[in-house]
Amino acid sequence: MIQQWDVIVIGAGPGGLAAATSARKNGAKKVLIIERESVVGGVLNQCIHDGFGLIRYKKQLSGPEYAALAKLEAIESGVEIRTGLMVVNITQTHEIQAIGPNGIEFFSAKAIVLATGCRERTRGAIMTPGSRPAGVFTAGVAQNLINIRNIMVGKRIVIVGSGDIGLIMARRLSLEGAKVLCVVELLTEPCGLARNISQCLYDYNIPLYLGYIVTNIIGKRRVEGIEISAVDKNKQIIPNTNKKIECDTVIFSVGLIPENEIALSAGVTLNVSNGIKTDEYLQSNISGVFSCGNCRSVMDLADFVSEQGSVAGKNAAFFIHQKKLEQWQNKTNTIFKKGLPEKNSFTCSFCPRGCQINIKDGDINGNKCKRGKLFVEQEMKDPKRILTTTVKVLSGSTPLVGVRSNRPISLSNVMNIINILKTKQVTAPIHFGEVLFANCAGVDFIAENEVSVKNE
Ligand SMILES: Cc1cc2nc3c(=O)[nH]c(=O)nc-3n(C[C@H](O)[C@H](O)[C@H](O)COP(=O)(O)OP(=O)(O)OC[C@H]3O[C@@H](n4cnc5c(N)ncnc54)[C@H](O)[C@@H]3O)c2cc1C
Repeated sequence: MIQQWDVIVIGAGPGGLAAATSARKNGAKKVLIIERESVVGGVLNQCIHDGFGLIRYKKQLSGPEYAALAKLEAIESGVEIRTGLMVVNITQTHEIQAIGPNGIEFFSAKAIVLATGCRERTRGAIMTPGSRPAGVFTAGVAQNLINIRNIMVGKRIVIVGSGDIGLIMARRLSLEGAKVLCVVELLTEPCGLARNISQCLYDYNIPLYLGYIVTNIIGKRRVEGIEISAVDKNKQIIPNTNKKIECDTVIFSVGLIPENEIALSAGVTLNVSNGIKTDEYLQSNISGVFSCGNCRSVMDLADFVSEQGSVAGKNAAFFIHQKKLEQWQNKTNTIFKKGLPEKNSFTCSFCPRGCQINIKDGDINGNKCKRGKLFVEQEMKDPKRILTTTVKVLSGSTPLVGVRSNRPISLSNVMNIINILKTKQVTAPIHFGEVLFANCAGVDFIAENEVSVKNE
Protein backbone atom coordinates (compact mmCIF):
# COMPACT_ATOMS: atom_id res chain seq x y z
CA MET A 1 0.00 0.00 0.00
CA ILE A 2 1.31 3.49 -0.85
CA GLN A 3 0.93 6.01 1.98
CA GLN A 4 -0.04 9.42 0.55
CA TRP A 5 1.19 12.68 2.11
CA ASP A 6 1.30 16.34 1.14
CA VAL A 7 4.88 16.92 2.30
CA ILE A 8 7.41 14.34 3.43
CA VAL A 9 10.56 15.56 5.17
CA ILE A 10 13.47 13.12 5.30
CA GLY A 11 15.60 13.57 8.44
CA ALA A 12 14.57 14.95 11.85
CA GLY A 13 17.55 17.15 12.75
CA PRO A 14 16.95 20.86 13.33
CA GLY A 15 16.57 21.38 9.55
CA GLY A 16 13.93 18.68 9.08
CA LEU A 17 11.97 19.59 12.22
CA ALA A 18 11.80 23.26 11.22
CA ALA A 19 10.89 22.40 7.62
CA ALA A 20 8.02 20.15 8.67
CA THR A 21 6.66 22.68 11.19
CA SER A 22 6.81 25.43 8.61
CA ALA A 23 5.14 23.29 5.92
CA ARG A 24 2.21 22.67 8.30
CA LYS A 25 1.98 26.32 9.33
CA ASN A 26 1.94 27.37 5.69
CA GLY A 27 -0.96 25.25 4.56
CA ALA A 28 0.24 21.68 3.97
CA LYS A 29 -2.34 19.42 5.63
CA LYS A 30 -0.58 16.07 5.89
CA VAL A 31 3.09 16.44 6.79
CA LEU A 32 5.30 13.50 7.76
CA ILE A 33 8.92 13.37 8.96
CA ILE A 34 10.80 10.09 8.39
CA GLU A 35 13.83 9.59 10.67
CA ARG A 36 16.10 6.54 10.70
CA GLU A 37 17.20 6.91 14.36
CA SER A 38 14.92 5.97 17.24
CA VAL A 39 14.76 9.58 18.46
CA VAL A 40 14.45 12.92 16.65
CA GLY A 41 16.99 15.74 16.90
CA GLY A 42 19.83 14.52 14.66
CA VAL A 43 23.32 15.60 15.73
CA LEU A 44 21.85 17.80 18.48
CA ASN A 45 21.20 14.78 20.72
CA GLN A 46 24.87 14.13 21.30
CA CYS A 47 25.86 17.82 21.68
CA ILE A 48 25.23 18.14 25.42
CA HIS A 49 27.22 21.38 25.67
CA ASP A 50 25.40 24.71 25.61
CA GLY A 51 25.71 27.30 22.85
CA PHE A 52 22.61 26.54 20.80
CA GLY A 53 19.50 28.60 20.25
CA LEU A 54 20.62 32.15 20.97
CA ILE A 55 19.29 33.40 17.65
CA ARG A 56 16.15 31.25 17.27
CA TYR A 57 15.00 30.91 20.87
CA LYS A 58 16.95 33.80 22.48
CA LYS A 59 18.27 31.32 25.07
CA GLN A 60 21.56 29.49 25.73
CA LEU A 61 20.47 25.90 25.20
CA SER A 62 22.23 22.56 24.98
CA GLY A 63 21.74 20.47 21.83
CA PRO A 64 19.12 18.13 23.39
CA GLU A 65 17.23 21.14 24.81
CA TYR A 66 17.17 22.76 21.37
CA ALA A 67 15.97 19.48 19.83
CA ALA A 68 13.21 19.17 22.45
CA LEU A 69 11.86 22.65 21.64
CA ALA A 70 12.00 22.01 17.88
CA LYS A 71 10.22 18.66 18.34
CA LEU A 72 7.52 20.27 20.47
CA GLU A 73 6.92 22.91 17.80
CA ALA A 74 6.57 20.18 15.14
CA ILE A 75 4.14 18.12 17.21
CA GLU A 76 2.06 21.14 18.24
CA SER A 77 1.74 22.19 14.59
CA GLY A 78 0.34 18.76 13.70
CA VAL A 79 3.36 17.13 12.05
CA GLU A 80 3.50 13.33 12.21
CA ILE A 81 6.83 11.71 12.94
CA ARG A 82 7.99 8.17 12.13
CA THR A 83 11.29 7.12 13.72
CA GLY A 84 13.30 3.95 13.16
CA LEU A 85 12.51 4.13 9.45
CA MET A 86 15.28 4.64 6.90
CA VAL A 87 14.59 6.05 3.45
CA VAL A 88 16.51 4.04 0.86
CA ASN A 89 15.17 5.41 -2.40
CA ILE A 90 13.25 8.36 -3.82
CA THR A 91 12.10 8.95 -7.37
CA GLN A 92 11.65 12.00 -9.58
CA THR A 93 7.87 11.56 -9.18
CA HIS A 94 8.15 11.79 -5.38
CA GLU A 95 7.74 8.12 -4.48
CA ILE A 96 9.71 7.08 -1.41
CA GLN A 97 10.81 3.63 -0.21
CA ALA A 98 11.82 3.19 3.41
CA ILE A 99 12.94 0.22 5.50
CA GLY A 100 11.91 -0.27 9.12
CA PRO A 101 10.86 -2.99 11.56
CA ASN A 102 7.83 -3.80 9.37
CA GLY A 103 9.94 -4.31 6.24
CA ILE A 104 9.72 -2.06 3.19
CA GLU A 105 7.13 0.72 3.25
CA PHE A 106 6.05 2.85 0.27
CA PHE A 107 5.14 6.54 0.44
CA SER A 108 4.18 9.23 -2.02
CA ALA A 109 4.29 13.01 -1.48
CA LYS A 110 3.32 16.10 -3.42
CA ALA A 111 6.58 17.69 -2.23
CA ILE A 112 9.70 16.38 -0.48
CA VAL A 113 12.24 18.15 1.75
CA LEU A 114 15.64 16.48 2.03
CA ALA A 115 17.22 17.21 5.44
CA THR A 116 19.57 14.25 5.82
CA GLY A 117 22.52 16.08 7.41
CA CYS A 118 26.17 15.17 6.88
CA ARG A 119 28.85 12.70 7.85
CA GLU A 120 32.42 13.19 9.02
CA ARG A 121 35.62 13.04 7.05
CA THR A 122 37.86 10.27 8.33
CA ARG A 123 41.63 9.83 8.55
CA GLY A 124 41.36 8.01 5.20
CA ALA A 125 39.71 11.03 3.59
CA ILE A 126 42.77 13.16 4.41
CA MET A 127 45.15 10.29 3.58
CA THR A 128 46.85 10.08 6.98
CA PRO A 129 49.70 7.54 6.81
CA GLY A 130 50.46 4.89 9.43
CA SER A 131 49.18 1.60 10.79
CA ARG A 132 45.52 0.87 11.51
CA PRO A 133 45.31 0.18 15.25
CA ALA A 134 42.27 0.56 17.51
CA GLY A 135 41.92 3.99 19.09
CA VAL A 136 41.36 6.15 16.01
CA PHE A 137 37.96 7.88 16.00
CA THR A 138 36.17 10.76 14.35
CA ALA A 139 35.00 13.44 16.77
CA GLY A 140 31.30 12.77 16.21
CA VAL A 141 31.70 9.04 16.85
CA ALA A 142 33.70 9.73 20.02
CA GLN A 143 31.04 12.23 21.12
CA ASN A 144 28.26 9.73 20.52
CA LEU A 145 30.10 6.98 22.45
CA ILE A 146 30.81 9.23 25.43
CA ASN A 147 27.62 11.30 25.65
CA ILE A 148 25.03 8.71 24.64
CA ARG A 149 26.46 5.20 25.09
CA ASN A 150 28.65 5.72 28.18
CA ILE A 151 31.79 4.38 26.50
CA MET A 152 35.05 6.25 27.15
CA VAL A 153 37.36 6.29 24.15
CA GLY A 154 40.81 6.68 25.70
CA LYS A 155 43.09 8.21 28.32
CA ARG A 156 45.87 10.09 26.52
CA ILE A 157 44.38 11.77 23.50
CA VAL A 158 45.48 13.88 20.53
CA ILE A 159 42.84 15.78 18.56
CA VAL A 160 43.44 16.55 14.91
CA GLY A 161 41.58 19.64 13.65
CA SER A 162 40.75 22.90 15.44
CA GLY A 163 37.18 23.50 14.25
CA ASP A 164 34.45 23.92 16.84
CA ILE A 165 33.72 20.20 17.00
CA GLY A 166 37.37 19.33 17.78
CA LEU A 167 37.60 22.09 20.40
CA ILE A 168 34.36 21.09 22.10
CA MET A 169 35.54 17.48 22.22
CA ALA A 170 38.85 18.59 23.79
CA ARG A 171 36.91 20.05 26.71
CA ARG A 172 34.47 17.16 26.93
CA LEU A 173 37.27 14.58 27.06
CA SER A 174 39.07 16.62 29.74
CA LEU A 175 35.90 16.73 31.83
CA GLU A 176 35.64 12.96 31.47
CA GLY A 177 39.13 12.61 32.98
CA ALA A 178 41.23 12.07 29.84
CA LYS A 179 44.49 13.90 29.29
CA VAL A 180 44.13 15.84 26.04
CA LEU A 181 47.77 16.22 25.02
CA CYS A 182 47.22 18.72 22.23
CA VAL A 183 45.11 19.86 19.29
CA VAL A 184 46.98 19.68 15.97
CA GLU A 185 45.95 22.03 13.13
CA LEU A 186 47.31 22.15 9.58
CA LEU A 187 46.50 25.84 9.12
CA THR A 188 48.26 28.73 10.81
CA GLU A 189 45.01 29.92 12.43
CA PRO A 190 42.51 27.77 14.30
CA CYS A 191 39.20 27.27 12.49
CA GLY A 192 36.82 27.39 15.47
CA LEU A 193 35.21 30.30 17.31
CA ALA A 194 37.46 32.37 19.59
CA ARG A 195 35.14 31.62 22.50
CA ASN A 196 35.71 27.89 21.99
CA ILE A 197 39.51 28.36 21.88
CA SER A 198 39.23 30.26 25.12
CA GLN A 199 36.77 28.02 26.98
CA CYS A 200 37.70 24.62 25.59
CA LEU A 201 41.51 24.91 25.30
CA TYR A 202 42.74 27.76 27.51
CA ASP A 203 40.47 26.79 30.43
CA TYR A 204 42.00 23.29 30.44
CA ASN A 205 45.59 24.23 29.46
CA ILE A 206 45.46 22.24 26.24
CA PRO A 207 48.26 23.15 23.78
CA LEU A 208 47.38 24.04 20.18
CA TYR A 209 49.97 23.18 17.50
CA LEU A 210 49.30 25.36 14.46
CA GLY A 211 50.87 24.54 11.07
CA TYR A 212 51.33 20.81 11.82
CA ILE A 213 50.20 17.67 10.01
CA VAL A 214 50.00 14.06 11.22
CA THR A 215 52.70 12.14 9.36
CA ASN A 216 52.33 8.77 11.09
CA ILE A 217 50.00 6.82 13.35
CA ILE A 218 51.97 4.27 15.35
CA GLY A 219 50.73 1.11 17.09
CA LYS A 220 49.86 -2.53 16.40
CA ARG A 221 46.71 -3.42 18.31
CA ARG A 222 46.09 -0.02 19.96
CA VAL A 223 47.45 3.43 19.10
CA GLU A 224 50.82 3.95 20.82
CA GLY A 225 51.59 7.38 19.46
CA ILE A 226 51.53 9.71 16.52
CA GLU A 227 54.16 11.64 14.67
CA ILE A 228 53.46 15.20 13.59
CA SER A 229 55.53 17.45 11.28
CA ALA A 230 55.48 21.17 10.61
CA VAL A 231 54.25 22.40 7.20
CA ASP A 232 55.17 25.50 5.21
CA LYS A 233 52.72 28.02 3.79
CA ASN A 234 52.07 25.69 0.83
CA LYS A 235 51.19 22.93 3.31
CA GLN A 236 54.36 21.01 2.35
CA ILE A 237 56.11 19.10 5.13
CA ILE A 238 59.25 20.86 6.40
CA PRO A 239 62.02 18.21 6.68
CA ASN A 240 63.34 17.26 10.13
CA THR A 241 60.51 18.93 12.04
CA ASN A 242 58.81 15.67 13.03
CA LYS A 243 58.05 14.96 16.66
CA LYS A 244 56.49 11.96 18.32
CA ILE A 245 53.66 12.21 20.83
CA GLU A 246 52.86 9.14 22.92
CA CYS A 247 49.12 8.65 23.15
CA ASP A 248 46.52 5.87 23.09
CA THR A 249 43.84 7.68 21.06
CA VAL A 250 43.65 9.98 18.04
CA ILE A 251 40.45 11.86 17.26
CA PHE A 252 39.99 13.34 13.81
CA SER A 253 37.78 16.40 13.48
CA VAL A 254 38.66 17.36 9.94
CA GLY A 255 35.45 18.39 8.27
CA LEU A 256 31.99 17.25 7.30
CA ILE A 257 30.57 15.98 4.00
CA PRO A 258 26.87 16.32 3.08
CA GLU A 259 25.08 12.96 3.15
CA ASN A 260 23.26 12.59 -0.16
CA GLU A 261 23.01 8.99 -1.32
CA ILE A 262 19.22 9.06 -1.44
CA ALA A 263 19.17 12.41 -3.24
CA LEU A 264 21.34 10.81 -5.91
CA SER A 265 18.85 7.94 -6.22
CA ALA A 266 16.34 10.46 -7.63
CA GLY A 267 18.87 12.16 -9.87
CA VAL A 268 19.22 15.30 -7.70
CA THR A 269 22.21 17.36 -8.85
CA LEU A 270 24.99 17.87 -6.29
CA ASN A 271 27.55 20.70 -6.13
CA VAL A 272 31.35 20.32 -5.90
CA SER A 273 31.15 19.92 -2.12
CA ASN A 274 28.69 17.02 -2.47
CA GLY A 275 25.85 19.25 -1.22
CA ILE A 276 22.43 19.42 -2.89
CA LYS A 277 22.44 22.13 -5.54
CA THR A 278 19.36 24.32 -5.14
CA ASP A 279 18.00 27.57 -6.54
CA GLU A 280 17.29 30.59 -4.33
CA TYR A 281 14.02 28.93 -3.25
CA LEU A 282 15.95 25.91 -1.91
CA GLN A 283 14.45 23.74 -4.68
CA SER A 284 16.70 21.16 -6.35
CA ASN A 285 16.80 20.40 -10.06
CA ILE A 286 13.80 18.10 -9.47
CA SER A 287 10.55 20.01 -9.26
CA GLY A 288 8.99 19.79 -5.79
CA VAL A 289 12.14 18.39 -4.12
CA PHE A 290 13.59 20.94 -1.67
CA SER A 291 16.59 20.77 0.64
CA CYS A 292 17.93 22.39 3.80
CA GLY A 293 20.65 22.06 6.42
CA ASN A 294 23.93 20.21 6.26
CA CYS A 295 22.95 17.96 3.33
CA ARG A 296 22.70 21.13 1.24
CA SER A 297 25.73 22.94 2.65
CA VAL A 298 27.45 22.38 5.99
CA MET A 299 26.46 25.11 8.48
CA ASP A 300 28.05 26.03 11.82
CA LEU A 301 24.97 26.91 13.82
CA ALA A 302 21.80 24.91 14.35
CA ASP A 303 19.89 28.22 14.45
CA PHE A 304 20.79 28.92 10.82
CA VAL A 305 19.88 25.35 9.85
CA SER A 306 16.43 25.80 11.41
CA GLU A 307 15.93 29.15 9.72
CA GLN A 308 16.76 27.60 6.35
CA GLY A 309 14.53 24.62 7.12
CA SER A 310 11.62 26.99 7.77
CA VAL A 311 12.00 28.50 4.29
CA ALA A 312 12.35 25.07 2.62
CA GLY A 313 9.22 23.80 4.41
CA LYS A 314 7.24 26.91 3.56
CA ASN A 315 8.22 26.59 -0.10
CA ALA A 316 7.25 22.90 -0.13
CA ALA A 317 3.76 23.95 1.09
CA PHE A 318 3.61 26.85 -1.39
CA PHE A 319 4.71 24.50 -4.19
CA ILE A 320 1.77 22.16 -3.67
CA HIS A 321 -0.64 25.12 -3.57
CA GLN A 322 1.05 26.72 -6.59
CA LYS A 323 1.87 29.88 -4.65
CA LYS A 324 4.87 32.10 -5.38
CA LEU A 325 7.93 30.66 -3.61
CA GLU A 326 9.93 32.68 -1.06
CA GLN A 327 13.63 33.41 -1.57
CA TRP A 328 16.02 32.19 1.08
CA GLN A 329 18.15 35.08 2.39
CA ASN A 330 21.58 33.93 3.48
CA LYS A 331 22.02 35.25 7.01
CA THR A 332 24.91 32.97 7.87
CA ASN A 333 27.70 35.50 7.20
CA THR A 334 28.11 36.26 10.84
CA ILE A 335 30.18 38.60 12.87
CA PHE A 336 31.22 35.88 15.27
CA LYS A 337 34.92 36.08 16.16
CA LYS A 338 36.79 33.09 14.78
CA GLY A 339 40.38 32.01 15.33
CA LEU A 340 42.83 32.92 18.09
CA PRO A 341 41.63 35.30 20.77
CA GLU A 342 43.46 38.64 20.71
CA LYS A 343 46.42 39.03 23.07
CA ASN A 344 45.67 40.57 26.49
CA SER A 345 41.93 40.33 25.84
CA PHE A 346 39.03 38.44 27.34
CA THR A 347 36.78 36.54 24.93
CA CYS A 348 33.22 37.15 26.07
CA SER A 349 31.15 33.98 26.05
CA PHE A 350 27.68 35.35 26.64
CA CYS A 351 27.00 34.79 22.94
CA PRO A 352 28.89 33.31 19.95
CA ARG A 353 29.91 36.81 18.82
CA GLY A 354 32.94 36.44 21.13
CA CYS A 355 33.71 40.13 21.76
CA GLN A 356 37.42 40.73 22.41
CA ILE A 357 37.40 42.84 25.52
CA ASN A 358 40.44 44.55 27.01
CA ILE A 359 41.12 46.91 29.89
CA LYS A 360 43.06 50.10 29.24
CA ASP A 361 43.66 52.74 31.92
CA GLY A 362 40.96 51.09 34.00
CA ASP A 363 38.38 51.31 31.16
CA ILE A 364 36.72 48.23 29.68
CA ASN A 365 36.80 48.34 25.85
CA GLY A 366 35.59 46.12 23.02
CA ASN A 367 32.29 44.87 24.46
CA LYS A 368 29.27 45.31 22.17
CA CYS A 369 26.75 45.07 25.01
CA LYS A 370 26.51 45.60 28.77
CA ARG A 371 26.88 41.90 29.48
CA GLY A 372 30.46 42.03 28.16
CA LYS A 373 31.43 44.35 31.01
CA LEU A 374 29.87 42.02 33.57
CA PHE A 375 31.67 39.08 31.94
CA VAL A 376 35.10 40.73 32.28
CA GLU A 377 34.48 41.81 35.87
CA GLN A 378 33.57 38.22 36.73
CA GLU A 379 36.56 36.79 34.78
CA MET A 380 38.95 38.94 36.80
CA LYS A 381 37.43 37.90 40.14
CA ASP A 382 36.46 34.29 39.65
CA PRO A 383 35.84 32.85 36.14
CA LYS A 384 32.55 30.97 36.00
CA ARG A 385 31.11 28.54 33.47
CA ILE A 386 27.85 26.66 32.93
CA LEU A 387 28.75 23.00 33.44
CA THR A 388 27.24 20.38 31.15
CA THR A 389 27.98 16.68 31.53
CA THR A 390 26.22 13.33 31.82
CA VAL A 391 24.99 11.18 34.71
CA LYS A 392 24.32 7.43 34.77
CA VAL A 393 20.72 6.25 34.45
CA LEU A 394 19.31 3.07 35.99
CA SER A 395 16.63 1.14 34.03
CA GLY A 396 16.63 3.77 31.29
CA SER A 397 16.16 3.50 27.54
CA THR A 398 19.63 5.12 27.39
CA PRO A 399 22.46 4.60 29.90
CA LEU A 400 23.09 8.34 30.39
CA VAL A 401 21.21 11.60 30.74
CA GLY A 402 22.70 15.00 29.86
CA VAL A 403 22.67 17.46 32.76
CA ARG A 404 23.48 21.15 33.07
CA SER A 405 24.06 23.46 36.02
CA ASN A 406 21.26 25.98 36.55
CA ARG A 407 23.85 28.75 36.85
CA PRO A 408 27.55 29.26 36.13
CA ILE A 409 29.98 27.69 38.61
CA SER A 410 33.59 28.62 39.44
CA LEU A 411 35.99 27.21 36.90
CA SER A 412 38.24 26.18 39.80
CA ASN A 413 35.42 24.02 41.18
CA VAL A 414 34.41 22.33 37.90
CA MET A 415 36.48 19.14 38.32
CA ASN A 416 35.33 18.70 41.95
CA ILE A 417 31.72 18.86 40.87
CA ILE A 418 32.35 16.52 37.95
CA ASN A 419 33.83 14.00 40.39
CA ILE A 420 30.76 14.29 42.65
CA LEU A 421 28.44 13.77 39.67
CA LYS A 422 30.40 10.68 38.59
CA THR A 423 29.37 8.98 41.85
CA LYS A 424 25.67 9.67 41.27
CA GLN A 425 22.97 7.86 39.34
CA VAL A 426 19.31 8.52 38.65
CA THR A 427 16.45 6.17 37.86
CA ALA A 428 14.28 6.41 34.74
CA PRO A 429 11.84 7.89 33.83
CA ILE A 430 13.51 11.28 33.65
CA HIS A 431 11.72 14.34 32.36
CA PHE A 432 13.12 17.20 30.34
CA GLY A 433 13.95 20.15 32.64
CA GLU A 434 13.59 18.09 35.86
CA VAL A 435 15.94 19.08 38.70
CA LEU A 436 17.91 15.87 39.23
CA PHE A 437 20.30 17.12 41.94
CA ALA A 438 19.34 20.12 44.03
CA ASN A 439 22.13 22.04 45.74
CA CYS A 440 24.98 19.89 44.47
CA ALA A 441 27.96 21.96 45.68
CA GLY A 442 25.68 24.98 45.61
CA VAL A 443 24.02 24.55 42.21
CA ASP A 444 21.11 22.55 40.81
CA PHE A 445 21.58 20.10 37.96
CA ILE A 446 18.78 19.87 35.42
CA ALA A 447 17.98 17.08 32.95
CA GLU A 448 18.64 18.11 29.34
CA ASN A 449 16.50 15.37 27.84
CA GLU A 450 13.81 12.76 28.46
CA VAL A 451 14.76 9.19 29.33
CA SER A 452 12.01 6.60 29.36
CA VAL A 453 12.04 3.27 31.21
CA LYS A 454 13.81 0.52 29.28
CA ASN A 455 11.50 -2.01 27.62
CA GLU A 456 12.82 -5.44 28.65
C1 LIG B 1 30.22 18.20 17.82
C2 LIG B 1 29.30 19.25 17.27
C3 LIG B 1 29.16 20.44 17.95
C4 LIG B 1 28.27 21.40 17.48
N1 LIG B 1 28.11 22.54 18.24
C5 LIG B 1 27.18 23.45 17.86
C6 LIG B 1 26.90 24.57 18.71
O1 LIG B 1 27.51 24.76 19.76
N2 LIG B 1 25.93 25.43 18.31
C7 LIG B 1 25.24 25.23 17.16
O2 LIG B 1 24.34 26.01 16.84
N3 LIG B 1 25.51 24.19 16.32
C8 LIG B 1 26.45 23.29 16.65
N4 LIG B 1 26.69 22.19 15.86
C9 LIG B 1 26.07 22.13 14.52
C10 LIG B 1 24.64 21.61 14.46
O3 LIG B 1 24.46 20.60 15.40
C11 LIG B 1 24.37 21.09 13.06
O4 LIG B 1 24.69 22.11 12.15
C12 LIG B 1 22.91 20.69 12.85
O5 LIG B 1 22.55 19.66 13.76
C13 LIG B 1 22.66 20.17 11.42
O6 LIG B 1 21.29 19.94 11.25
P1 LIG B 1 20.68 19.06 10.07
O7 LIG B 1 19.21 19.03 10.33
O8 LIG B 1 21.13 19.58 8.77
O9 LIG B 1 21.34 17.63 10.20
P2 LIG B 1 21.38 16.53 11.38
O10 LIG B 1 21.29 17.16 12.73
O11 LIG B 1 22.60 15.72 11.07
O12 LIG B 1 20.09 15.68 11.08
C14 LIG B 1 19.94 14.87 9.94
C15 LIG B 1 19.01 13.73 10.28
O13 LIG B 1 18.69 13.02 9.09
C16 LIG B 1 18.59 11.64 9.41
N5 LIG B 1 18.74 10.86 8.18
C17 LIG B 1 19.81 10.85 7.33
N6 LIG B 1 19.61 10.01 6.30
C18 LIG B 1 18.38 9.48 6.50
C19 LIG B 1 17.59 8.52 5.76
N7 LIG B 1 18.04 7.97 4.63
N8 LIG B 1 16.36 8.18 6.24
C20 LIG B 1 15.88 8.75 7.38
N9 LIG B 1 16.60 9.65 8.11
C21 LIG B 1 17.82 10.02 7.67
C22 LIG B 1 19.73 11.44 10.40
O14 LIG B 1 19.56 10.26 11.18
C23 LIG B 1 19.62 12.72 11.24
O15 LIG B 1 18.79 12.56 12.35
C24 LIG B 1 27.54 21.20 16.28
C25 LIG B 1 27.70 19.99 15.57
C26 LIG B 1 28.55 19.02 16.06
C27 LIG B 1 28.68 17.71 15.30
